[in-house]
Amino acid sequence: MKNFKKYFPFYDKQSNLIYFDSSATSLKLKKVIEAEMKFLNENGSNPHAVDYKKGFEAFEIIKNARQLTQEFINAKKANEIIFTSGTTHSINLLANGLKKIIKKDDEILVTELEHSANLLPWIALANSIGAKIKKIKLNEDFTIDQEALKLQLSDKTKIVSFASVYNTVGAKNDVKLITKVIKEFNNNIIVHVDAAQSIGHTKNDVTDSNIDFMSWSFHKMYGPFGVGCLYGKYELLNQLEPLFYGGGMSLKIEENLIDYSLSSLPEKLEGGTPNISAIAGVIESIKFINSIGLDQIEEHELTLKDYFKIKVKENNLNDHITFYNLDTKSPIILFNVKGVNPQDITNFLDEKYNILVRGGANCARRIEGVIGTKIAIRASFGINNNKAEIDQFIEALKNTNSFLDVLF
Ligand code: PMP
Repeated sequence: MKNFKKYFPFYDKQSNLIYFDSSATSLKLKKVIEAEMKFLNENGSNPHAVDYKKGFEAFEIIKNARQLTQEFINAKKANEIIFTSGTTHSINLLANGLKKIIKKDDEILVTELEHSANLLPWIALANSIGAKIKKIKLNEDFTIDQEALKLQLSDKTKIVSFASVYNTVGAKNDVKLITKVIKEFNNNIIVHVDAAQSIGHTKNDVTDSNIDFMSWSFHKMYGPFGVGCLYGKYELLNQLEPLFYGGGMSLKIEENLIDYSLSSLPEKLEGGTPNISAIAGVIESIKFINSIGLDQIEEHELTLKDYFKIKVKENNLNDHITFYNLDTKSPIILFNVKGVNPQDITNFLDEKYNILVRGGANCARRIEGVIGTKIAIRASFGINNNKAEIDQFIEALKNTNSFLDVLF
């Protein structure tokens, strides 16, 4: 197994820390940090200020990042890439942008496992126009039940929005097949994929899968905070109402202060000064992932999960720990130590073992309907992790048993 730690300055002064929270945000690459710093140190001008060379350089950085992003997800055109501040912004832009297209009594289909960022914007949209939200049925393995979905689709269905990988149970949906089912029923139904948990881990090919929209954040792919993307098929994207009106996206405002005209895509949906230093980091994030290869990244991460699974069995951890998703195809482990609050376990792992994991609802507020509990502990792996860390994790988890003895 390759060692990727050298790419992450996080470990430089704290090699003892075991970072198992890549689902919340992945560690930041040295090259990403350097690119951000370089822009801030040596340029720092506004990419709208193309009147002078430095401004033009900044503009070129965005152009470059947009093209790399287009290639990364295999979009047909660079102007189908809208830079946002992250997944949350992207989905709000989409839901808000569809306000004039969605009508009263139309139906929006989602699953109960969605992150709040892929639920609340749709609920808000539905509530504001009297549309309805419907829950898509799930299989035992937490993936979307395609047969049930076929029966749930109707003439009223306007949008189906689901995660490619859920940030809690980590189930990986077959995006291409699900989209085929939807499009065969009615090609006009809009398919949106929340790719926040799949983007840096596996291939996300928007042309092959034929989805209409996709959202994600670059901080989940070893990249910078504060920048994300909304991909959309050109004709659909072009129909969206902007979420932000401002500089950089308007062509003309008439004297009557009523009429105006907007720039074309992508500027039309990118009002205001973009997070240009972060976008400089995006370039390095994509280049790094391309240089390793998504296949190799996926293999590394799933090998860690398989190894964890074997060790759980060998050490009979099932006796005092409930694991919810050892078989799902992503590097996310969701579990609870029987009878103990998840937050007590996360503190214990942090304090005693320097293991950083999450506990709680993990922003999936309707998960109870699926796994029967509102809160759980999530450990998530990235390429920065290795088997030795899993061994230490297993040792620590063994001791959550004695932790119970101390408590009771
Ligand atoms: N959707 C999913 C599936 C996620 O995992 C996350 C991040 N936890 C988000 C949306 C929201 O991402 P952000 O906070 O970067 O906007």
